[in-house]
Amino acid sequence: MGPIRRFWDVCSDPVEYARQWKRSTGGKVVAHTCSYAPVEILRASGALSMRLFGKTEDFTFSDGHLQAYCCSLVRGILNEALAGNLDFLDGAVFPHTCDSMQRLSDIWRINTSFSLHGDLVLPVKLNTDTAKTYMVDVLKLFMQRTGEQLGVVITGEDLEKAIQETNSTRKALCDLAAMRERSPGAVSGSDMYVAACASMIMAPSEWLDTMNSLLAELGQAAPGPPAQRLKRIVLSGGICGNTQIYDVIEKNGGVVVHDDLCTGARYYEGLVAEGTGDPVGAIAERYRTRVVCPAKHAGIYSRGQELVKIAEEKQAGGVIFLLLKFCDPHAFDYPYLKRMLDDRGIPSLLLETEDPWSIGEHGTTRVEAFMEIVRQR
Ligand code: SF4
Ligand code: SF4
Repeated sequence: MGPIRRFWDVCSDPVEYARQWKRSTGGKVVAHTCSYAPVEILRASGALSMRLFGKTEDFTFSDGHLQAYCCSLVRGILNEALAGNLDFLDGAVFPHTCDSMQRLSDIWRINTSFSLHGDLVLPVKLNTDTAKTYMVDVLKLFMQRTGEQLGVVITGEDLEKAIQETNSTRKALCDLAAMRERSPGAVSGSDMYVAACASMIMAPSEWLDTMNSLLAELGQAAPGPPAQRLKRIVLSGGICGNTQIYDVIEKNGGVVVHDDLCTGARYYEGLVAEGTGDPVGAIAERYRTRVVCPAKHAGIYSRGQELVKIAEEKQAGGVIFLLLKFCDPHAFDYPYLKRMLDDRGIPSLLLETEDPWSIGEHGTTRVEAFMEIVRQR
């Protein structure tokens, strides 16, 4: 099986991957729900850290606990847990971000009985010195409790090793993203997406072996057309679970040159400093300095400034906002982000979807129409 096929397979059934991993290694599996979960600490405990993406075809179990106006991501994750599909887990971690995620944590705690339940209350405002002190304290306590609940002692050495391994996955994803931009014919947007998604599910050593094979394969492939001749698009939003959007953009003469998503660059860009002697502090510093998601705060216009900077640096012809229905944090940010792009003459499209896994026919038509007005840069 080729390396990219392996990533596609894992992403098509993450639960089956994690079950098999547990069966073959006897290790523990800890799920998490957001890119503010410190995967380095979970990996340092020896567990497989697995991001949950939920399924959206059925909300039979979650509907008894969550209103229909919660986003489908949260409803889908809860449904999977209550339906028993995640019975192999040893625990789950819920960073306190949006209201829906916080309520998910409470409902999960009351209705499941995994050994570990981690509520991670990081500060909302990130750009102050006190935020850093507070965040370090919270992360240290989290590390201690994670160890206790999993029955292991997590040492500074374990954490340093996990930081190095996680950094390696992030660097490799940055390399792949650079390759996609240089040579979009060789790396499609959907291949980039599955590689990133698989890195949040697979054991890092296995993922790195697969990724190294993929990068070697791509290094030998003939380069595709340079991205300069294509319409350059930035995607911006929360979680993106669908590969359809990339295919529609590419079929219409475009290439995604940056994914400002928590399943994209916001997850893999920015490394944790290695060898500082203070690994927890280094993790906190990455959270403080990475591009914030709208559930956090680092200045009134910081997200907008960052998005404009990215769009200009990447010479994007347009920005597509992916908004999951009922996602308040992203919906609140959208008007000012659009206004800042308008002020710089960068066209944008708001694509609101009920289902993170598909943009549907209507969405396809809207993206096609948008691509017609996007200029090559
Ligand atoms: S958008 Fe923010 S809160 Fe929502 S899942 Fe992503 S990082 Fe977490
Ligand atoms: S940030 Fe939005 S998409 Fe993510 S869990 Fe919260 S409401 Fe859902």
